[in-house]
Amino acid sequence: MSDLRDLYQQLIIDHSRNPRNFRESNHANHIKEGYNPLCGDKITLYVDEEHGLIKDICFRGVGCAISTASASLMTEALKGKTVEEALQIFQDFQRLVTESDYDKLEEIKSRLGKLAALAGVVEFPMRVKCATLAWHTLKAALTNDQEKVTTE
Ligand code: ZN
Repeated sequence: MSDLRDLYQQLIIDHSRNPRNFRESNHANHIKEGYNPLCGDKITLYVDEEHGLIKDICFRGVGCAISTASASLMTEALKGKTVEEALQIFQDFQRLVTESDYDKLEEIKSRLGKLAALAGVVEFPMRVKCATLAWHTLKAALTNDQEKVTTE
């Protein structure tokens, strides 16, 4: 179990130092900003969606290691997925940081793969908002929600 923890920690460090898909896009048809005032994390998410398929997804922003790693892992996981699949993964991810039933949690983790690296944030309630910021921004982007995205 501690090996897995180490692996998860390394993944987070790697993705926060060296975020994937960290760029702007001039062909995105969904652009959304998100803000977590508790920590100061800011993200702009770019999604290029065609016929329900996420052809490209990338982000820019400034934030803590957790928010950056989460956005990086999210973009990596969602590229090439359908919008429907992405929203399903969003639900799993939300449950990852809220589910208290051990068996259900293990099942969710196995479905999420690398994204499960962020499961450890549940021990730090303040960090949950950092980890979910990119995801809330994604949901608003995909559903064309006009509201400002803030974790408050
Ligand atoms: Zn943060």
